[in-house]
Amino acid sequence: MPTELLSIEAARAEVVSRCALLAAEPVAIEVAGDRVLAADIRAAADVPRFDNSAMDGFAVRSDASSGALWIVDESRAGRPASRRLAAGEAIRISTGAAMPAGADAVAPVEQVREADGQIMLTATVAPGQHVRRAGEDLRAGSVVLAAGAVLGAGALSVAVGAGAGTLSCARRPRVAILSTGDELRPPGSSLGPGEIHNSNAVMLAALAAREGATVLTAAAVRDTREATETALAAALADADVVIVSGGVSVGPHDHVKPALEALGVTERFWRVDLQPGKPTWFGTRGAQLVFGLPGNPVSSFVTFALFARPALRALQGAEPLPPRELATLTQDMPRRGRTQAVRVRLRASDGTLRATPTGAQGSHVTTSLIASDALAFLAAGDGVAAAGERLPVEWL
Ligand code: AMP
Ligand code: MG
Repeated sequence: MPTELLSIEAARAEVVSRCALLAAEPVAIEVAGDRVLAADIRAAADVPRFDNSAMDGFAVRSDASSGALWIVDESRAGRPASRRLAAGEAIRISTGAAMPAGADAVAPVEQVREADGQIMLTATVAPGQHVRRAGEDLRAGSVVLAAGAVLGAGALSVAVGAGAGTLSCARRPRVAILSTGDELRPPGSSLGPGEIHNSNAVMLAALAAREGATVLTAAAVRDTREATETALAAALADADVVIVSGGVSVGPHDHVKPALEALGVTERFWRVDLQPGKPTWFGTRGAQLVFGLPGNPVSSFVTFALFARPALRALQGAEPLPPRELATLTQDMPRRGRTQAVRVRLRASDGTLRATPTGAQGSHVTTSLIASDALAFLAAGDGVAAAGERLPVEWL
């Protein structure tokens, strides 16, 4: 590895170290999906709140359930029985309905013969059978979700059960996306000679939104120093994070770095031991973060995943880095002069996670992004990484 290039790990550590937690705000739980909790959630009460039935059937006394039992009442979901169960009696009960006082078991309807206001049990009844105990799921006062948790659907369900109606979440990072390039034309437009469609703006906006960001703008910028500086100044007026694609290489029309310097953004690193994505640039102005991602769409995608995504997560207080696993390469892959982030499809078979590259790995070959669900890291070197070799992988 050329010594002047920063490792992926060091570059990520630098990014994460520059992320200041965003302020918390109250968020109605109905719209809190995928937000990050800013404070622990404790259970307001036991969940379940009361002993209840796991089956449709009859609440009975396990020690007095032989012979005929009179059906004396009913406990329905939301409408408990109004009387206590005595020996020789049964109370009809629905799943989720409160256990009547005096009952300690439920005989499921499938194990009962009912006639003339009475039941006969066709199976023995063990104490506590088919009863869900109060507090079995959550104990009153216990922490059920910790600050930093990303609120998936399951977590939201738990939070509602714990009694929450409004949650404290980190505010959404405000992200401005700029795509540099005289060649760029809006999606769907007709193209003149040498022009291409601006795919990075749409892709990066989708990636940022998926991490909980509010995307302020996703504008294209001409390749002049003036246009670049004007657009960056506007972005920096409002955004927590500015993501620029293109213009960070060493060509005569790459104006991003000098423009950022003029705007008071301090360079933290430029160039990473990474293919694709070597020219990645990162800087800060106060708490504001600026990412200069290489323009090739695959490079933009990979460097967003490796550097911008951890930042958006860290700003919201979530664990920044995804877990790494090991996967077995299914085909030979040539090593190169830099660490490669290979787009792969991961599949488990015979108890092993297998990584299959999703096609040609050139940084302009966007089709490698389709159906890729992870990045596999292939260390720099000569020769090939042989099929069967184990590589670290990160889910996208
Ligand atoms: P650059 O990093 O500006 O040198 O661009 C590298 C390559 O990525 C060139 O082939 C550009 O045409 C292409 N490219 C740059 N920006 C975009 C974009 N927003 N959408 C699609 N391709 C782009
Ligand atoms: Mg360019």
